[in-house]
Amino acid sequence: DTRIQRIASSIRVVPDFPKKGIMFQDITTLLLDPKAFKDTVDLFVEQYTGRGISVVAGVEARGFIFGPPIALAIGAKFVPLRKPRKLPGEVISENYILEYGSDCLEMHVGAVQPGERALVVDDLIATGGTLCAAISLLERAGAEVLECACVIELPELKGRGRLNGKPLYVLVESH
Ligand code: IMP
Repeated sequence: DTRIQRIASSIRVVPDFPKKGIMFQDITTLLLDPKAFKDTVDLFVEQYTGRGISVVAGVEARGFIFGPPIALAIGAKFVPLRKPRKLPGEVISENYILEYGSDCLEMHVGAVQPGERALVVDDLIATGGTLCAAISLLERAGAEVLECACVIELPELKGRGRLNGKPLYVLVESH
């Protein structure tokens, strides 16, 4: 697919960011190419149109870039999953382990109704810990998580296996 090739080549890889030994996948260069950005959104919209999805949940921060245009195109609501102490209303929280230390995602109570069909969106899956926490938040609210969608997967880290059996759709694998 020429669209996938364009997307893959628009992603910049920055060595030793944010620390030595990490090859950071930088999607800001994808956003600078309007065709690559549109192709990214279009591929997700093609994948998720007509599947009865009423919730697109985006993970802070880069899930807030790709999630909303998908939500608008498929006629779903957008729900931000945020880092701690950012959301003003009552929240539910989910802690998760990172390579060094831990982090937390929060979602507003009442944003999602029991029985809603949800898609989780982020830019990249590494170990899968972030998406696993996102899935837990939605399921605790009674939603059914249909699938997770990311622009980039780092397959060596085997994050796919941590998604509670949920399917993962990715556009680009980075080795
Ligand atoms: P995981 O929880 O280990 O799967 O890490 C995924 C989270 O870390 C996502 O929210 C990503 O945005 C972020 N992340 C990890 N590595 C990178 C990277 O190379 N580029 C951009 N984001 C990254």
